[in-house]
Amino acid sequence: MKKYSLGKTGIKVTELCFGALPIGPLQANISVEKGAKLILAALKKGINFVDTAEVYQTYPHIRKALEGYNEEVIIATKSNAETYEKMEQSIKNALESLNRTYIDIFLLHAARVTPSVFEERAGAFQCLNDYKAKGTIRAVGISTHAVGIVKRAAEVKEIDIIFPIINKLGMGIVGGNVEDMIKAISEAHKAEKGLYAMKALAGGHLINQLEEAFHFVRNIKGISSLAVGMVSSEELELNLKIFNDEEIPKGLLTQKIKPSKRLFISTFCKGCGTCVKTCPNNALSLENGKAVVDHKLCILCGYCSPVCPEFAIRII
Ligand code: SF4
Ligand code: SF4
Repeated sequence: MKKYSLGKTGIKVTELCFGALPIGPLQANISVEKGAKLILAALKKGINFVDTAEVYQTYPHIRKALEGYNEEVIIATKSNAETYEKMEQSIKNALESLNRTYIDIFLLHAARVTPSVFEERAGAFQCLNDYKAKGTIRAVGISTHAVGIVKRAAEVKEIDIIFPIINKLGMGIVGGNVEDMIKAISEAHKAEKGLYAMKALAGGHLINQLEEAFHFVRNIKGISSLAVGMVSSEELELNLKIFNDEEIPKGLLTQKIKPSKRLFISTFCKGCGTCVKTCPNNALSLENGKAVVDHKLCILCGYCSPVCPEFAIRII
């Protein structure tokens, strides 16, 4: 599989990145053993890049996968921490939980914030930069759904990596449309930032146009890799064929793609509204004292599920 450099970092990643969100408890809730087996299979078949986050709760799956593997693996993780102390805890947690002496890429997890994120979370950002200076982190960056943050991050010299949302429908993009995001990506690329993309399939909305949806993002100049969530060996096999530019037997496309996942809100919902404020895509609202989801807007990012105090939100 093709490998591309991420900006000026010297880090080379495969064009397909194993997105670890869906195997974790926020989505498919696959056991550590099964998740590790799938990650290890992906690594053995040539993928060298795994994307996770503290909130995804998939460090155990990745750690177990790496126990049986000696080749280089690039791990990107992220934290919602807002202060220096909280970010320091996140870094220590990642190192310990993943059993690593360093983290390749550490991002500010910042789905729905204003471009002043670097000022608002100055302590957390400083902490990432300090740990980079110590050699504990190789590259620092930010994940985002917002066009304004991609533009702002392109101007911040300490930012090495940007992980934006981009898909051909423009779903989930905050503060602009698909053309605006592509322009912002282009500006960031010109500023020599490394970029890899999330949600090329728009949270499953493009599952029936898989190849076109991936090719759309693969063809955007500046995008080095696409993080793609996978929960089965069939999905892995299919994605490998696409990213290795191999011919795909028709049967594999029609038989092996699972029906799209969906978000469910149970009757335990007490209507507190926390999830509504958390959703980066305005897909949630309150009706008659209960949360309701607009499936046309939901990109299955999973951000709402962990904030619910009643454990009422599941993506299945
Ligand atoms: S956070 Fe949970 S309890 Fe609160 S409105 Fe959302 S689903 Fe309901
Ligand atoms: S409803 Fe939840 S899963 Fe869907 S887009 Fe909003 S935060 Fe993400």
